[in-house]
Amino acid sequence: MACGSINSAALLLRSANEQHPHGLANRSDQLGRHFMKHLSTSMVALSIEPNPAVHQKMIAINDFYWGEDDFPYPMGMVQNTGNVKGGMIPAEAPDLLAPYVKFTPETVLDVLADHATGWWLQTEDLPKADNRVRLVNGKICLDYTPNNVEARDRLVHRWTTILKNMDDSTQQVLPFGLYPRSIQPLAAVGHQCGTSRFGTDPETAVLDLNCRAHDLDNLYLVDGGFFPSNTGVNPTLTIVANAIRVADHLKQWLNVQAAALAVA
Ligand SMILES: Cc1cc2nc3c(=O)[nH]c(=O)nc-3n(C[C@H](O)[C@H](O)[C@H](O)COP(=O)(O)OP(=O)(O)OC[C@H]3O[C@@H](n4cnc5c(N)ncnc54)[C@H](O)[C@@H]3O)c2cc1C
Repeated sequence: MACGSINSAALLLRSANEQHPHGLANRSDQLGRHFMKHLSTSMVALSIEPNPAVHQKMIAINDFYWGEDDFPYPMGMVQNTGNVKGGMIPAEAPDLLAPYVKFTPETVLDVLADHATGWWLQTEDLPKADNRVRLVNGKICLDYTPNNVEARDRLVHRWTTILKNMDDSTQQVLPFGLYPRSIQPLAAVGHQCGTSRFGTDPETAVLDLNCRAHDLDNLYLVDGGFFPSNTGVNPTLTIVANAIRVADHLKQWLNVQAAALAVA
């Protein structure tokens, strides 16, 4: 299975039967738990100079992973977003500015977008059992309380300070060098992971280290659900690499079965 960590958990929970009354692969009540999605903040830096970049999403900075002097913990990573377009601004505007942006003419938004550089700040959220996928009357319900917010807040503060020091022209566009930003809401679950974590102990993990369900020997999960903790960077290459690793394992297993059959 690889339905994405939310839908895989939901499908297995919906598949409860007499032998598995709490859902498939859920004997230890771990399925759906430890849901994570990163704490993500989008930020816009406006400059009096237009931004002519064509390939914007080319910068990623991981230095803040090592924390700072009075905070020796991972704070997260910073990366460029793709190009900012005028039409995107109303959707991404922070609550404070949203009412004004709504009535701003499209041509003005286009000019703002031409002078904008978009930043994406991403901090790991930590695996907590109560952050989970549940079914309520058959519908998917996501319980999520953000954690590790100090790391996120420090990253936002640190990056804003760096931007101010790099290019103070923002202060000529917006008063006090304001950097409009919005925290991605729960609906933004692009980096969903962790609902079927892997591990050696069936009491605390849904999958074994080959991503096979501890409870069922013919069920493998190869989406982002296997992460026991979140990634420091974007997740997809790790999800793909793991799926290839599991495919190799299955191929070897099939070869062994075929050889055994041939001998028999
Ligand atoms: C806007 C956006 C931007 C992103 N940008 C990046 C990025 O720059 N870098 C990065 O690393 N990651 C990025 N991501 C995250 C990335 O898309 C996910 O991490 C990745 O796709 C997750 O892989 P997955 O295999 O777990 O699930 P998915 O890729 O979501 O695959 C799940 C598949 O299962 C199917 N499915 C669901 N339910 C069922 C069902 N019941 N039956 C059958 N099929 C089903 C779905 O249709 C889907 O095709 C982004 C995500 C979004 C939304």
